[in-house]
Amino acid sequence: MNLILFGPPGAGKGTQAERLKAAHGLAHLSTGDMLRAAVKAGTELGKQAEAIMAAGKYVSDGIVVGLVEERIEQPEAANGFILDGFPRTLPQAEALDRMLQKHGKELDAVIEFAVDDDVLVERVLRRAKESGGSRADDTRETVAYRLTVYHKETAPLLPYYGEKGILHRVDGMADIETVTREIQEILDKTGD
Ligand code: ADP
Repeated sequence: MNLILFGPPGAGKGTQAERLKAAHGLAHLSTGDMLRAAVKAGTELGKQAEAIMAAGKYVSDGIVVGLVEERIEQPEAANGFILDGFPRTLPQAEALDRMLQKHGKELDAVIEFAVDDDVLVERVLRRAKESGGSRADDTRETVAYRLTVYHKETAPLLPYYGEKGILHRVDGMADIETVTREIQEILDKTGD
């Protein structure tokens, strides 16, 4: 089973991805986590990405496409994968389609997390405070900017998946258990 969790920063994608990983043995592929790991490790790619991420901008499509392709070929993704934070632009979505075709894989569902913007800003700031605020992009200004970028660059991808007939929506403002249940109901219907 291959899934995309789709939604703005702070929508709860990472939390649900971890639950899906545990329940279904899927690989959790978060491009944000991969990039933060590269920054931490001080790799060339990490050095390129660091300032862009801190500003809340998107790193280049080529970088993230390469990171994802490396991971979907790995044995950890043999049972399937959950994409979290990717694709974020139309070229990324098109590259993903080509990559899946090349590897003989298909997407089963794209799950959109619907959450109001004002709820998101407060959530991300609270999460930053609780976790010690280790992310450079978790200031009020940068979170607001990340949301603007999401609406401009990423939300327009929804019709792309709508047309494929694989787009589903959950209420990301419901509590964690409810969202998990809603996702499971969608997966039950898509034939897992
Ligand atoms: P969030 O969704 O909470 O903003 P992520 O951890 O998914 O955070 O991403 C953090 C940052 O990493 C993004 O703001 C962006 O700079 C970079 N990034 C992650 N995924 C992508 C992507 N698919 N395309 C471009 N940049 C990305």
